Amino acid sequence: MEILIVGPQGSGKTTQAKLLAKKFNFQFISTGDLVREFATQDSQEAQSVKQALEQGELVNDRIVAELIRKKLARNDSQRGFVMEGFPRSVDQLKYISPNFDKVFYLEVSDEEVVKRLLDRKRADDQPEVIRQRLRLYHTFTEPVLKFYEKLGKLIRINASQLSGMTDEQSIQEIANEIDKQMESLVNNKGVNLGASAKR
Ligand code: ADP
Repeated sequence: MEILIVGPQGSGKTTQAKLLAKKFNFQFISTGDLVREFATQDSQEAQSVKQALEQGELVNDRIVAELIRKKLARNDSQRGFVMEGFPRSVDQLKYISPNFDKVFYLEVSDEEVVKRLLDRKRADDQPEVIRQRLRLYHTFTEPVLKFYEKLGKLIRINASQLSGMTDEQSIQEIANEIDKQMESLVNNKGVNLGASAKR
């Protein structure tokens, strides 16, 4: 099974993708992790990626696609994968277009995104870089949502923090919501869940 988790930065997509991958024994593919790892290498291409990251720009489509292709080739899980961070634009689908069964869209307002990222303090979480990434998200990634919506694959999940909940409770609540949707998908497809997936 192939699942995509999509949402603005700070929507919790990495956290949810990891939880889901663990539960179902899927391969976990984070484009952000792949490009950050690549940026530490000692090559001219790696330096250009590092610069794009620092400026909140998108990394070159061809490089991103290549990193994903390599990661997929190393896939040791026969069950499938959970991807996050790709595609970030409709154009990127020209390079690789996974046949996602479902696309979970974690919805969070811009206001909440900015607040969360400033708390996170990752190197690229500077106010002006955050704003630039949000601009790119609205311009290029939102059309990706529409694309999957037309294919009937998009599932919207409210990923904003509910008042009175701790981060932990909020994460669990969203995970439960995704689980519910996954259960009906798994039942329909007759996928056999491994021991780790049984609750
Ligand atoms: P966030 O979504 O919180 O910005 P990510 O870890 O997903 O964080 O991505 C961090 C950065 O990595 C992005 O700002 C971008 O520069 C680069 N990146 C990640 N995925 C892609 C992609 N599919 N295409 C181009 N650049 C990407």
